[in-house]
Amino acid sequence: MTSSNIAGAGAAKAPAPVTVLAGPTAVGKGTVSAAIRERYPQIWLSVSATTRPPRPGEIDGVHYRFVSEDEFTRLVEADRMLEWATVHGRHRYGTPRGPVEDMITAGRPVLLEIDLDGARQVRRTMPEALFVFLAPPDWDALVARLVGRGTEDAEERERRLRTARVELAAEPEFDRTIVNDTVEQAADELAALMGVRDLT
Ligand code: 5GP
Repeated sequence: MTSSNIAGAGAAKAPAPVTVLAGPTAVGKGTVSAAIRERYPQIWLSVSATTRPPRPGEIDGVHYRFVSEDEFTRLVEADRMLEWATVHGRHRYGTPRGPVEDMITAGRPVLLEIDLDGARQVRRTMPEALFVFLAPPDWDALVARLVGRGTEDAEERERRLRTARVELAAEPEFDRTIVNDTVEQAADELAALMGVRDLT
C-alpha cells in the first residue's frame, strides 16, 4: 500500500500550514484572535497592515501595523502583500507576505484573520490553506453585537449590516464553520482544527 492509499484510507492528515479565519462583520473574529494570541502562543497570528487609525489600546506592530496610504500603496506595488482589501469601503487592510512565508518555513502554524475578499484571494494563491468561517449563533446576536459595540455611527452601522448579510451568505465557500457561542470555545475549536493543543 502506498502512502497515498494510507491517507485515502483515513489516516490523520497533517494540518494545513496556513489557516484563514473569516466571517461577517462584528461576529467576533478579533476577540477570537485575541484569545488565540493569549492561549495558544504556538500559533503565529499574522499582523495586518492597515490604513485605519489605531483605536485606543491598539499597539502598532501587535494588533496592526498602522501605515499611511502612501506606504500601503508602496507595499502593494512591491508585491509585498499576500492579499489586501478595502473593508467597508473605507480603509485598506492587507497581509504582509514576508512574515507569513518565514513562519511557514519555520514550521509554525499560521493564522490569518481577514475579511471575505482577502480569504478569496488566499483561496486562489494558497488553495491548500484551511478556510474557517466564524458564524454568529444567529442574526439577532450579530446585530446585537454590531449595535452593542457602539463604536460606529448609524450610517456606518447600516453599511456594516449590509456587508454582514452578504458575508453570511459566503459560508458554503469555506471548509469548516465555527459558531461563536463563546470566545473560549471558538478559540479552542479553531486551535483544534489547526492541530494545536492548549498548553495550559
Ligand atoms: P477592524 O477595523 O474592526 O479591526 O477590522 C475590520 C475588518 O478588517 C475585519 O473584518 C477584519 O477581519 C478585516 N481585516 C483585518 N486585517 C485584514 C487583512 O490583513 N486583510 C483583509 N483582507 N482584511 C483584514
